[in-house]
Amino acid sequence: MNIHEYQAKELFDRFQVPSPRGAVASTPEEAAAAAKEFAGAKLVIKAQVHAGGRGKGHFKNGFQGGVHLIESPEQAAEFASKMLNETLVTVQTGEAGRLVRKVMVAEAVDITHEYYLAILMDRATSRPVIVASTEGGMSIEDVAHNTPEKIIRQFVHPLLGLQRYEIGKLAAALGLSGDLGKQFGKLLANLYKLFIASDCSMVEINPLVTTPDGRVLALDAKFGFDDNALYRHPDIVAYRDKDEEDPREVAASEYDLNYIGLDGNIACLVNGAGLAMATMDIIKHYGGEPANFLDVGGGASKEQVTAAFKIILADPNVKGIFINIFGGIMDCNVIAEGVIAAAKETGLPIPLVVRLEGNNVEMGKATLDASGLDITSASTMADGAEKIVAAVS
Ligand code: ADP
Ligand code: MG
Repeated sequence: MNIHEYQAKELFDRFQVPSPRGAVASTPEEAAAAAKEFAGAKLVIKAQVHAGGRGKGHFKNGFQGGVHLIESPEQAAEFASKMLNETLVTVQTGEAGRLVRKVMVAEAVDITHEYYLAILMDRATSRPVIVASTEGGMSIEDVAHNTPEKIIRQFVHPLLGLQRYEIGKLAAALGLSGDLGKQFGKLLANLYKLFIASDCSMVEINPLVTTPDGRVLALDAKFGFDDNALYRHPDIVAYRDKDEEDPREVAASEYDLNYIGLDGNIACLVNGAGLAMATMDIIKHYGGEPANFLDVGGGASKEQVTAAFKIILADPNVKGIFINIFGGIMDCNVIAEGVIAAAKETGLPIPLVVRLEGNNVEMGKATLDASGLDITSASTMADGAEKIVAAVS
């Protein structure tokens, strides 16, 4: 799960990670009111979407940039009206872009230098890793590619936690000493606390800045949370913005389905993550493109299968469906009944290839046969993949 920058600021405030004051707005009037609150200060206005690269992005209405310096409440309203309810395209959103529903008005600070600071969960070492660089503000991927020596990594022992000497090493590597070093150390220690306490998978500050008046501040924030730990963080779940998520994935999550939308036109309904991966591979092997990853799980109910099938059918890109089930715990007849229930409600306007094997397979096949639905059955996984690829091309 991800959150917006203005929500991230609330977490920063709670854990004493310094960042400029800011307020969120959904209308130009609210943006002007927020700007009045910070009267006297220089201000920025920032589009709030779950994607980075906003500063260098552009709106489909031709307006350039999702981050702007402004000087008055009038200007806040003017810029808000150019960004709100408009689509922002950045390197991270893809061509489709993201609709901006909120903006944040924040105090603008003078910047001496922009740094990069992130904490991630590193799978290879099973440890949190702090990633830092003096080359902040820009795309960290480019820095990693062009000047990999400028990326500093510090692994942290998960039980011992972040040590003072590790903080010192990082501060020194970034060239932060004296009072700036101290402020950086405090900020990083608090950020690490926030990362662990909130079960983050990632927290990224780009840029972290030093200012001419000697402060260290987080000017941007990106968070990722471990979905499996969200049950212990109702406060973070409350930050969820379903408008920012793939609607297909939102629907799937309501039925506890493991679903990830993809760009192809062949929908897959499979049980087991391994088989789902293999099914996507074999579709590609025969020249097709999968429209999704979908694992209905081992013990899916008829209702879940019905929901899964409906989500697939609601996707306008889908031109054919391949059901590939190896019933171990899964009862093949439950799949058959779920598919029929969904097809009865929505119709079956596109080709459906089914390969069923395993637990109660005879019953499952008989149920599908008796349904009168136009279904192509496949004897093996390869046979099924070939048939669905042929059907959509
Ligand atoms: P994104 O990464 O999505 O482009 P950022 O929040 O990093 O958005 O903003 C882009 C740039 O705008 C930053 O690198 C920084 O130079 C500037 N900026 C952002 N917030 C502020 C602020 N509060 N005061 C001054 N400059 C800012
Ligand atoms: Mg940024």
